[in-house]
Amino acid sequence: MTLLSGARLVPLDGGAAAGPVDLRVLDGVLAEVGPGLAPGRDEVVDLEGRWLLPGLWDAHAHVGQWATVRRRLDVSAARSAREAGALVTERLRAQPQAAGSLLVGYGYRDVLWDEPTDADVLDEAARAAGAPDVGVVLVCGDLHSGWISGVAAAVLGLSPGVLREEPWFAVAGRLDPDEATLDGWVAEATRAAAARGLVGVLDVEMTDNLRAWQRRIGAGHTWLRVSAGVWPDYLDGVLARELATGDVIEGTSGLLSQGPLKVITDGSLNTRTAYCHDAYPGPGGALTHGVLNVPPDELEPLMAAAARHGVHAAIHAIGDRANTLALDAFERTGARGSIEHAQLLAPADVPRFAALGVAASVQPEHLLDDRDAIDATWADRAGRCYPLRSLHEAGARLVLGSDAPVAPMDPWLAISAAATRARDGRAPWHPEQTVPTAVALASSVRSRLAPGEPADLVVLDADPLADPAGLRTMPVAGTMLAGRWTFRAG
Ligand SMILES: [Zn+2]
Repeated sequence: MTLLSGARLVPLDGGAAAGPVDLRVLDGVLAEVGPGLAPGRDEVVDLEGRWLLPGLWDAHAHVGQWATVRRRLDVSAARSAREAGALVTERLRAQPQAAGSLLVGYGYRDVLWDEPTDADVLDEAARAAGAPDVGVVLVCGDLHSGWISGVAAAVLGLSPGVLREEPWFAVAGRLDPDEATLDGWVAEATRAAAARGLVGVLDVEMTDNLRAWQRRIGAGHTWLRVSAGVWPDYLDGVLARELATGDVIEGTSGLLSQGPLKVITDGSLNTRTAYCHDAYPGPGGALTHGVLNVPPDELEPLMAAAARHGVHAAIHAIGDRANTLALDAFERTGARGSIEHAQLLAPADVPRFAALGVAASVQPEHLLDDRDAIDATWADRAGRCYPLRSLHEAGARLVLGSDAPVAPMDPWLAISAAATRARDGRAPWHPEQTVPTAVALASSVRSRLAPGEPADLVVLDADPLADPAGLRTMPVAGTMLAGRWTFRAG
């Protein structure tokens, strides 16, 4: 039993902050919440007036990919092929590697580069570090292409240069760590996320997430609760086990639960494949509306089958037309769940989220990564991109996530982006669509600080409602998951 004393509860309902209160934690649950609780035989932790929130959730992440990307050389700062090469040289000088091994980096974005991404640049970079026999592979920031040095090509049995889409995906899979290594990296990544106040994640990794997390939790990786998203390929297994969304998986200390069915219906903005009502403006005059990967006559039976078994749907839709079709599918099948991304919306669709009870699962940090791309690609419709305030005011339930590895698995980045739509000292982008900080926070939690609720909470060294500019680097003093500290500062 633990008594947390002297906490200030952050009001998420727009009300005034409550005075110092105590919280009694018993068997992983909040047993009592109120001022001046008698300590009894509890271990007392004096929070000394720090701020308290329910534990934070990431509603959309690819945890294995995030864990892998964290371990790779970060080349996202490179503004040219030459700069990417310099980062490779620097790393190989600092951390020498054996001849014939591969250095894998991640995060280059070459759309605006002048020089081509030639294999020679990477071989020269390795030679400059005195490591002419180390292969170099750099993975593009959108994961859709890879840049391969001559030595790496020889090691992998490929030709040097840049590979894109399917041929690249086949190579990317070969660079993944083995299961035991990956599990170790996932443990590190989830532990780091707990230090930012995270207590849970919806994992939509493209794998058998239920099996992966049963194995990890069984091995003692207990930093987060995990809702295991299921891809269509694995849906039959879930239905055969009669698992519904929210069901807790036995033998996981209550940490693992069945998540929703994940279906990707359209593409993305950066590859101009998000499916839109209006054609993409563009050179060459080739009018395109993007790509619909899963048309309604495939999507709806899938959602209906899941819904019959109590499995919710998490439908990826980025373009406005894909969102219209996804909302139609929820309406026709009666499925419950969320639309993932909901980046571009037709005005008539905004109120349909609340009317249908479909959550808008959004990743606000992307709007800061993509603002220039949106202004270039969707200049005519930028005011309808990431319309978070419109959704909120129309009564939609917003849930925030990172889509890690696309953005880091740190809940404060999403909260900051939703509340400020600004970063890097730039002016806010469409500030009329910011939401109040309390709304961004409420969209990141799944429990309340009230008796009977799970003892999942975050202790903060600063008041998150005081200054939106401080959200991105919010100092976390401690994170508790089911009554157990998963992180304590100092
Ligand atoms: Zn994703």
